[in-house]
Amino acid sequence: MTEVAVIGGGVVGVAVAAALGRQGHDVTVLEKNAKLGQEVSARNSGVIHAGIYYPADSIKAQTCVEGRERLYARCVKAGVPHRETGKLIVATDEEGESKLEELRRQGMTNGAGALEILDAAKVHEKESRVRARAALWSPRTGIVDVHMLVRSLAGEAENFGASIALCTTVSDIERLPNGWRLHTVSDGEPFALDVPVVVNAAGLGAEGIAAAAGVDIDRARWRLHLCKGDYFSVSGLGLLTRHLVYPVPGVLGLGTHITFDLGGQFRLGPDAEYVPRVSFNIDEAKAEGFAAAVSQFLPEVTVTNLSPDFAGIRPKLQAPGEAFRDFVIEEGTPHGTPGMIHLIGIESPGLTASLAIGERVARMVNSLR
Ligand SMILES: Cc1cc2nc3c(=O)[nH]c(=O)nc-3n(C[C@H](O)[C@H](O)[C@H](O)COP(=O)(O)OP(=O)(O)OC[C@H]3O[C@@H](n4cnc5c(N)ncnc54)[C@H](O)[C@@H]3O)c2cc1C
Repeated sequence: MTEVAVIGGGVVGVAVAAALGRQGHDVTVLEKNAKLGQEVSARNSGVIHAGIYYPADSIKAQTCVEGRERLYARCVKAGVPHRETGKLIVATDEEGESKLEELRRQGMTNGAGALEILDAAKVHEKESRVRARAALWSPRTGIVDVHMLVRSLAGEAENFGASIALCTTVSDIERLPNGWRLHTVSDGEPFALDVPVVVNAAGLGAEGIAAAAGVDIDRARWRLHLCKGDYFSVSGLGLLTRHLVYPVPGVLGLGTHITFDLGGQFRLGPDAEYVPRVSFNIDEAKAEGFAAAVSQFLPEVTVTNLSPDFAGIRPKLQAPGEAFRDFVIEEGTPHGTPGMIHLIGIESPGLTASLAIGERVARMVNSLR
């Protein structure tokens, strides 16, 4: 009998399923798409963040740092393709330079690894094509093949006996005396699953799942705001950088940065724009703004090198103009949904944090026993 149902088969859902499986729980993952990891987990930078940016003791800081270490260890053990590339956060003006020390202190407090401020000459030694007054060097930042990670976590969960139900949408939720009835549509057929414990890991759908279970979303402050990030691929410039290169971050996102994947494809992005609905269309005219932003530190990049690549949508709790909001990882009793663990607003660094989130949720499930 299924003891825990995990709604959502993104990187977080499968990490939760693997952690629960390891601890002997009988788990079923319900995923609406025909494949795992096709939503937010498929549309991101694939960066293993060191844990620099987040307020000390926030869940984002804690799960990012713990998740980073777990992720590197797992990648080595399970053969998931990854690379510890290192990253530079570059300052091109006095104001930016003054923020580097602040970031370094924040990162050191969080446990982001040995962060070092480099002067212009040292930046040049590391990255001859980058122009900067100074930079923060983060050696523990890297990249990972997200699809292979999802596959490896799902495989582990299945090895521990988890069932993974694809093409299965949770359409309604009913409270039972000792748990929950999940009404699903599976390959067009209705099906109901009764379970004592539910983990809501539905990404962009997590607010809807919580509401269907009876949570007052506005009272809980769990309303999600869709924040789109576009990427442009870079061509014609050869090996542009050897490390990931980011500007000093803004209020909303980490700033338009330069990343590359394990195949060596360079990209600029993502930007950050609140949108009313999910759409992955990229306005080609944005290329000019991207080139202008990045040419501050990589002057060779011009609009002619850029082509629209892909877009992702962040499930943000932070409304436009609002200050920092943390991940929600909460058992639902205070919100009238006992036995349901809600993961809401799992935007960046959710990929990096996924294994730590899995462990945290497994501990919460154990405490419900
Ligand atoms: C532009 C962008 C860049 C990012 N860059 C990074 C980065 O470099 N590093 C990093 O650490 N993080 C990054 N992130 C964040 C990271 O991608 C996410 O935190 C992570 O992928 C979230 O995974 P998830 O499993 O919660 O969500 P998802 O992958 O979206 O999984 C949720 C799943 O739930 C399923 N689902 C939804 N509703 C239902 C339902 N009713 N029934 C059944 N199934 C349902 C969906 O189909 C989906 O598969 C980025 C995010 C974005 C948008």
